[in-house]
Amino acid sequence: MWDAKQAEIIPACRVEPASAEEITFILKTVIEHQCNFAIKGGGHARHAGSSNADNGVTIDLAKMNQVEIASDRKTVKVGGGAVWLDVYTAVEAEGLMVIGGRVGDVGVGGLTLGGGISFFSGRHGWACDSVIAFEIVLPDGTFTKITQSSNPDLFWALRGGSNNFGVVIAFHFETFEHPGKLWRATRLHKWEDVPELLDMQYDFQVNQQPKDLDTGTFFPYGYYAAYDMMLVPFTLVHTAHDDIDNPPEAFKKFFTKDVMDGSKVDYNSLSNITLDIQQSSPPGLRVMYKTVTYRASRELDGKILDLYLEALEHVKKIPGIIPVVVFHPVAAEVFKKMQKNGGNPLGLDDVDGPVTVMQIAWAWTNKEDDELNYKVTKRLFENIKVEGDKLGVMHRYIYQNYAWADQDVFSGYGEENLARLRKIQKSVDPNGAFAAGGLNGGYFKVNKVMGSVEGMLRDEL
Ligand SMILES: Cc1cc2nc3c(=O)[nH]c(=O)nc-3n(C[C@H](O)[C@H](O)[C@H](O)COP(=O)(O)OP(=O)(O)OC[C@H]3O[C@@H](n4cnc5c(N)ncnc54)[C@H](O)[C@@H]3O)c2cc1C
Repeated sequence: MWDAKQAEIIPACRVEPASAEEITFILKTVIEHQCNFAIKGGGHARHAGSSNADNGVTIDLAKMNQVEIASDRKTVKVGGGAVWLDVYTAVEAEGLMVIGGRVGDVGVGGLTLGGGISFFSGRHGWACDSVIAFEIVLPDGTFTKITQSSNPDLFWALRGGSNNFGVVIAFHFETFEHPGKLWRATRLHKWEDVPELLDMQYDFQVNQQPKDLDTGTFFPYGYYAAYDMMLVPFTLVHTAHDDIDNPPEAFKKFFTKDVMDGSKVDYNSLSNITLDIQQSSPPGLRVMYKTVTYRASRELDGKILDLYLEALEHVKKIPGIIPVVVFHPVAAEVFKKMQKNGGNPLGLDDVDGPVTVMQIAWAWTNKEDDELNYKVTKRLFENIKVEGDKLGVMHRYIYQNYAWADQDVFSGYGEENLARLRKIQKSVDPNGAFAAGGLNGGYFKVNKVMGSVEGMLRDEL
């Protein structure tokens, strides 16, 4: 388990199935004995009980991590317990690529079932939309392969519907030809440059990225207690550029700013890049992600950093605190890709321009600091909402993969999509084993009716 809050959960039993038959047996057994259970993919969820079952059965899919490239090279079958490094190592060796995560040890399962932002997303969309088939063991123990033609409803639901429908034992992803290497600039900027960096980030998002969909990047801003320093460590990536002496046009403006020691440009394999980024997100900390989505707005970006600085004053003395704000620019092209193969349930089809998925990645060391961090970040998000509403740029969407337990992810998908998800969930799981209040009740559930934030925190943490 990557997060300490999840690692503290003690299951009564841990099973590591290696086949669909074993999963069928496990599901039938836990349901017959009314035993609570959780499914673990890469184990990167942050709230307790998401993929580890308190005094129950944790179904760890780690042994189901096979990666098999189809003979026509057009698709790759990936086990439901694989992590992205398994996938990239295999496809790179064959001159192929898939849409997946940006950190090597993150699970294919959780990331894909929640969406999946990749360095390749500008051109190719999110990971969930590049799945052409899911192999799944349904709540009644039946093993089946779901495609758009075999079961359009469940196929739609699985592209963002999370762990509500069964245990996905394999994903079949589309592949595309790619040399396997990416241009990357690691640029450590000083905090005093923040206003200019925000201008550049906005210009990139609204003017540059739409013209160059091979750019894939995210923009972190944060306080790093180990150095007692505010830093802006950008990672700029281009998936179709190999000249390390000349940045791609879309990133040129960033190169007008001086950077600190440790900055570099390289042309490297995606597996190495995901391993590097993994170094900056080590396991064992207590971490909270929380997120909002808004139409690209320089004003709101700036307000968010102002509000972040206010919040920081309340937590700065907490031992080991690393509170970071990350802006993920999402190109409008991504939303067009979401329409293919019958669309997905994320509810982003009304978006016609670039949006920002803003995430906090807030890490600390000690349990006794949990409450203060929850309180401060709750207030931070209330304030962000007020400012975003004033500017009229907020979108209801809440990106599941970066959401916190008190966020109503599925309402953010829109009323109609939520109703359809609930209907599909009920049809595959009439007894509610995979629903809120059921045996696999952790993580985000389509049938959960969200109560007060305080109530959610008590329930979920
Ligand atoms: C360091 C770090 C880097 C990240 N980078 C990215 C990124 O680049 N892009 C992005 O979009 N997101 C990213 N994320 C977010 C990530 O996508 C989510 O946290 C995701 O849920 C992690 O999946 P997992 O399988 O590792 O986690 P888990 O905790 O194992 O799973 C999360 C949930 O999905 C369920 N689940 C997992 N596998 C299956 C399966 N096969 N069948 C049924 N249910 C399953 C689990 O039961 C659990 O409820 C990152 C997160 C971290 C911590």
